Amino acid sequence: MSVSIDARACVGCGACARACPGNLIALGPDGHARMRRPRDCWGCTACLKACPAGAIAYFLGADAGGRGTTLRVSRSGALSVWEFRRPDGSVERVEVDARDANAY
Ligand code: SF4
Ligand code: SF4
Repeated sequence: MSVSIDARACVGCGACARACPGNLIALGPDGHARMRRPRDCWGCTACLKACPAGAIAYFLGADAGGRGTTLRVSRSGALSVWEFRRPDGSVERVEVDARDANAY
């Protein structure tokens, strides 16, 4: 499983479920999002970018060189803020201007 949803932070908006191209997320009876088929997630990060509450964490496992680092995405105006939290407690933030997202 490459993403984890924090039910305490989830506000039940359903944006992640709509964003997931694999239809892997659904709102549960408690109104919070949950993974339906965790093993099918291929880590596209669409749900992270869609979540307005920062409730979804993406795990960068050892196979990806992350050694348990988690990634969360939040919005600050036109900026997407990608926050990497490493197991040693260090945090790195990368700001991406969403208006330049396709400027490559
Ligand atoms: S990372 Fe992509 S495939 Fe995985 S649950 Fe999120 S939107 Fe779906
Ligand atoms: S997008 Fe975030 S806040 Fe909205 S349902 Fe999904 S996890 Fe909850």
